Amino acid sequence: MIRRVLIANRGEVAVRIIRACRELGIETVLVYSDADAHSLAVSMADQAIYIGAAPAAESYLRKDKILEAATQTNCDAVHPGFGFLSENAEFASLVREAGLIFIGPDPDAIRTMGIKTKALELARQLGIPTVPNYREDQDRRAIEFPVLLKAAAGGGGKGMRIVREQGELAEALESVKREAQKAFADDRVYMEKYIERARHVEVQIFGDQHGNVIHLFERDCSTQRRYQKIIEESPSPFLMPDLREQLCAAAVKLGQSVQYANAGTVEFIVDETAGRFYFMEMNTRLQVEHPVTELVTGIDLVKLQFHVANDLPLPFTQADITTRGHAIECRIYAEDPANSFLPSIGMILKLVEPQAPGVRVDSGVISGDEISIHYDPMIAKLIVQGQDRREAIRRMEQALAQFVIMGLTTNIHFLGDVLRHPVFSEGRMTTRFIESGFSEWQAATPTPTDVILIAAALGELLRQQTPQQESDTALDRFSAWSQRDSFRVGG
Ligand code: ADP
Repeated sequence: MIRRVLIANRGEVAVRIIRACRELGIETVLVYSDADAHSLAVSMADQAIYIGAAPAAESYLRKDKILEAATQTNCDAVHPGFGFLSENAEFASLVREAGLIFIGPDPDAIRTMGIKTKALELARQLGIPTVPNYREDQDRRAIEFPVLLKAAAGGGGKGMRIVREQGELAEALESVKREAQKAFADDRVYMEKYIERARHVEVQIFGDQHGNVIHLFERDCSTQRRYQKIIEESPSPFLMPDLREQLCAAAVKLGQSVQYANAGTVEFIVDETAGRFYFMEMNTRLQVEHPVTELVTGIDLVKLQFHVANDLPLPFTQADITTRGHAIECRIYAEDPANSFLPSIGMILKLVEPQAPGVRVDSGVISGDEISIHYDPMIAKLIVQGQDRREAIRRMEQALAQFVIMGLTTNIHFLGDVLRHPVFSEGRMTTRFIESGFSEWQAATPTPTDVILIAAALGELLRQQTPQQESDTALDRFSAWSQRDSFRVGG
């Protein structure tokens, strides 16, 4: 039985794991870098071990230092969270070789799924559809445009490019190769048919070490900006029951083929026009957007990770899993939508998280914390649940309006606009929805009373003109005012 776990991560995911451990009575040891010495996660962990300078390469990616910290503190398990080493098969193997439990799947499963082309090949063998693809040396006449070029080692939407006609192909291939070499030190690029009206639908699966693999239904992550998810929800407003059943069955089949144990996500792209789905990739870890699944199924996925890592069988069968209502997650970033979404670095002067029925905030920061250049500028995840999608959207609008973050520019206002856009509210979004006419719509749509911009301006003004104490009182009053019931976005 796991009694003490080392958490090889930071920020909100570290906080999320610590919370689960406290409920389970498991002690936590957290590693941290220079930049995180005073973080919320460090203050919450039972023990914290310093492992190096802020750049991830010198701390959160240092397998040796992390393992040393785990053995020194007599941990019996390592939880990698997401990002950093979470999908690193070598790290998972090293953890096991050190006699510790890796809270994740078998290193072989990570390895197979980690190479996109290998995972696609496996899916094809299992009869799961994959997007038609072309080789670079293919007879150019056989290629059906548009195509999407993807870096084989890519991730996070980097190294992708749409090519609409033959004439652009050669140059685009060269430039994506260069970009891939620079970003991933690997210039292999592959080519897929580009799906014009694509929806991103992924299935949460879970396996144990006794041969059971189940699914916890889907998340729709079609609301993206530059191939990066910004809003996720469950259930998908688009999937009809038969398609949902097919997707979930395909995901479980893929999991079973690699004897998948622990949490995993099977990503599909759904061609809205043809009503067909294709396997895209599998992520062998907990996902950022896992809370929407937790809210609709009522199952704590992080606690379940510990349960199966303890070699216990899943405590339920597929038939036991049902969903209730609708959940939506917004990713709140310190970035400036008016300035090409550049990260907004600096100190959070004041942070007031919304509180209301059906509202959950997963964050790893408090007032006074710095958002640094070293890590992802995500400040928090705001997750709401409603009886249906309509109620969830209204709830999210209210919660966004009450989320006060002063001192930094955030995308809160932008997220509010996305929720109000008819394509989103009607559930018709495809992955390119934000890139196709959204900013023009924003410019042409009257802006509702804007608490966020007022808050930022006020915060800045007070910071510059009043002594600290006075400014704090004024900020507190402003926060209280913005939380009043009568305050409405659009009102
Ligand atoms: P990454 O690993 O960088 O996240 P993915 O392969 O998962 O890259 O793709 C990211 C996003 O790009 C998907 O969510 C989807 O919106 C879009 N995408 C991927 N493949 C296609 C395709 N063939 N046609 C249209 N959109 C695609």
